[in-house]
Amino acid sequence: MTQTARENVEEIADARTETFESIDPRTGEVVGEHPIHDAETVGNRVAAAREAQAAWDELGFSGRKQHLDSWRKLLVKRLDELAGVICAETGKPLEDAKLELVLVIDHLAWATSNAEKVLKRRKVSPGVLMSNQTATVEYLPYGVVGVIGPWNYPAFTPMGSIAYALAAGNAVVFKPSELTPGVGEWLVKSFAEAVPEHPVFQLVTGYGSTGAALCKAGVNKVAFTGSTATGKRVMASCAENLIPVLVECGGKDALIVDADADLAAAADAAVWGAMSNAGQTCIGVERVYVHEAVADRYLKMVSDRAAKLRPGGEPGADFGPITMASQVDIIRGHIDDAINRGGRAVIGGRDSVRPPFVEPVVIADAPEDSTAITEETFGPTLVVQRVKDVDEAITLANATNYGLGGTVFSRARGMELARRLRSGMVAVNSVIAFAGVPALPFGGVGDSGFGRIHGADGLREFARPQSVTRTKFTIPLNPMSFARPKGTVSTVVKLIKVLRGR
Ligand code: NDP
Repeated sequence: MTQTARENVEEIADARTETFESIDPRTGEVVGEHPIHDAETVGNRVAAAREAQAAWDELGFSGRKQHLDSWRKLLVKRLDELAGVICAETGKPLEDAKLELVLVIDHLAWATSNAEKVLKRRKVSPGVLMSNQTATVEYLPYGVVGVIGPWNYPAFTPMGSIAYALAAGNAVVFKPSELTPGVGEWLVKSFAEAVPEHPVFQLVTGYGSTGAALCKAGVNKVAFTGSTATGKRVMASCAENLIPVLVECGGKDALIVDADADLAAAADAAVWGAMSNAGQTCIGVERVYVHEAVADRYLKMVSDRAAKLRPGGEPGADFGPITMASQVDIIRGHIDDAINRGGRAVIGGRDSVRPPFVEPVVIADAPEDSTAITEETFGPTLVVQRVKDVDEAITLANATNYGLGGTVFSRARGMELARRLRSGMVAVNSVIAFAGVPALPFGGVGDSGFGRIHGADGLREFARPQSVTRTKFTIPLNPMSFARPKGTVSTVVKLIKVLRGR
């Protein structure tokens, strides 16, 4: 048994440590028991991570790469096992859990292979005025990063921070969602198994209060993924000690269909983007704006596809249950609000909500101020709105405080429309593709948060730039000295006038 596993068992055996249960949302069956860590334990885990971080940093990029590669190989070997844990805690179909892990592994490989190139010391031009200096910038690890994750993609989402933070030389203390502690535990244990000599990846479990304790435990950065409301609380808490935060929150992503679009592909993308993982995807498609010239044909294509989908807990189901029971009321409320105020239920409707499952719901022509349009639904629902042209589509798509992802289907104007969306990411003529490209930064604007995971920006997010100048030779006229000769500054002013005055 690994040290972490032993500690967990010991903790649970200790009558003083309270525990909570992890539940399979498909059946209500208890699938695990985990400690509720208090502030003292969280502090101890942060201290242990800090102690281990120094040696991890000293390994350098290639040393860390070797260890992270071992972990990656272990993840590949035991992919099925971890996929089973994801299924048990979220209820999502096994194939979807495996797909999630494929992305995890690819991102881990990218982060470890590119960390050195992105973060190592590099020279920059010192400029004319400081030409006697060599100027370099290097990206150094923060120290200990606290990662707080959600339950909907319990491996992929937090690993977007964990893999990149570790590759950059940090230690990580991870607080998974209370709904998916087993996935967090599995990840931490597997790291300990692959890299036993460097305990730089630590786990804390519990409810929101454990996450809150992590923000105050002396970590050097917090990477939070979850709802906007909790993101604000995390930020306020970190502000007390000026701890930098990365905040990845929800979205209300729109898909735009132009008159010249491949309608079948756009329908397929909308239904997958809206219904896969039961719609519990931060970059899921929640709204469609379709050009009126093709709207009727398009709506029929979407409806035909959505009508075939069945949620369930059995193998072969298209998507699973609503993982977080309290979300069911929100989904029901959005459907009711849209229909009560004139929206047309084209597929499904109020009766589609059968907890813990929700059947596909497609609503057309809902009022733009209904909650199905204005708030994150996080269910297998889709609202299809007809617009007179793509300019109106862009205006309506952008009329939200969120700004996470977006999708555009257009043969002629895809890139132009993508640029006009106020969002952190856009897929043109496909859906969610950007999340599978490890080199692309992932994150949003507005209520969707700020900061980036993935790609070079994601590596830099977990490192502090340090700028260094080194004097190559002394100059006769040094203006930054009390001993400067008279007239030095006026010579420099003359120089800047010549150089920059034209
Ligand atoms: P929550 O905001 O409820 O929780 C997120 C995490 O924060 C959980 O681990 C939670 O713990 C923890 N937490 C709760 N309260 C506090 C607190 N006061 N201080 C510190 N941590 C706290 O979000 P969900 O888990 O419900 O996740 C769904 C949300 O995540 C959706 O809005 C979705 O759009 C968003 N999301 C965004 C992504 C992105 O990359 N932009 C990706 C995936 C999801 P506990 O669970 O124990 O309460």
